[in-house]
Amino acid sequence: MAKLNVQDLDVASRRVLVRVDFNVPLDAEGKITDDSRIRASLPTLDWLLERGARVVLCSHLGRPKGRPDSAMSLRPAAQRLSDLLSRPVAFLDDCVGEKVEQTVKIMKDGDCLLLENVRFHAEEEKNDPAFAKRLAACAELYVNDAFGSAHRAHASTEGVTRFIAKSAAGFLLQKELRFLGDELANPARPFLAILGGAKVSDKIAVIEALLDKADALLIGGAMAYTFLRVQGIPTGASLVEEDRLETSRRALDLAAQKNKRVFLPLDHVVARRVETDKLDKKGRKIVEFQEVHITDCASIGEGLCGVDLGPNTVAAYAKAVATAKTVLWNGPMGIFEDKAFAKGTFEIARAVAASGARSIVGGGDSVKAIHKSGLADKITFLSTGGGASLEFLEGKTLPGIAALAEK
Ligand code: AMP
Repeated sequence: MAKLNVQDLDVASRRVLVRVDFNVPLDAEGKITDDSRIRASLPTLDWLLERGARVVLCSHLGRPKGRPDSAMSLRPAAQRLSDLLSRPVAFLDDCVGEKVEQTVKIMKDGDCLLLENVRFHAEEEKNDPAFAKRLAACAELYVNDAFGSAHRAHASTEGVTRFIAKSAAGFLLQKELRFLGDELANPARPFLAILGGAKVSDKIAVIEALLDKADALLIGGAMAYTFLRVQGIPTGASLVEEDRLETSRRALDLAAQKNKRVFLPLDHVVARRVETDKLDKKGRKIVEFQEVHITDCASIGEGLCGVDLGPNTVAAYAKAVATAKTVLWNGPMGIFEDKAFAKGTFEIARAVAASGARSIVGGGDSVKAIHKSGLADKITFLSTGGGASLEFLEGKTLPGIAALAEK
């Protein structure tokens, strides 16, 4: 059943609580270093404000552990949003209580108010009903536009909907559901899924779900070494999840049964990982990579770690991507934070952009790589959800979406 959308609501002169995802990165001085999450909320906010809604915004920022922490205040987001909307955005230093109730009472049509970080209250993450009710008290309607938090049953994403007459999906949430849901349910073929990142354990359920939908899977990142090990290929000191060997073997068997090709690296950039006595800013030992070189086959020598795709793998993956009509990509192909090991990730980004396929990229790191390589306008859809997009692709019900009213 389709969910109620913000366009289905009569919002004029109504107080509308909007759950946004303003979980933006801040520098040491509290300045926002990337405002794309705030920008992503503008279509919904413009739509509401132009129709005379009285908009009350709530969000989380960081992990403040259930108590106020000025380093994670949403105050800077109010100023940035005000600049982007070209209208004043008021800010309150709490998200529930007397002050909030008094302020929303005197709001006028087209006013916009941002509440303080909902995670300053421990009740938020506990989905405490009394807290959800207090949050709901400030509005008559609720709109969820925070896809990135929809996989969490928290008070501001799930609990609150029990105490508000109507709850609907904002434009950003709708877009995520359209691209990750409808589009991938009926993809133009061949449909290729590229999966990378650190851990098989994070993505095995997605891999299994994609074996039903995609025509082929391309595996990169540290995840690939667990799969190589399953095939008896030596992986040296690369990151391998020993406790996931059996699950990975089952995934490969399943792929074979379903006649789906799984691409694994043919060669690698490898290095020796050396822990030095030097400490970083957080007091952790700085790791250096020595003896960096390219292997001439899939196996990795003793003591060496795979850190990026090798050139033959990049060429093979790029060739496969070039034939695709739909591409889904989640997770980097190597330790791309280190410039020396970013080539695989950036080459795959270029191949996806050049393919002309419908392309959907999710997960913070792959989206970052797309932006860094200046290719964002060549990608059909950049998902804003990391964990949420993975859980959605696994076929799980996301509590923040399930809680919205049916059309
Ligand atoms: P994820 O959050 O699971 O998408 O993983 C992203 C992380 O995986 C990034 O921080 C990468 O540095 C890391 N990663 C990718 N490839 C490797 C690799 N070969 N060895 C270790 N870490 C890797």
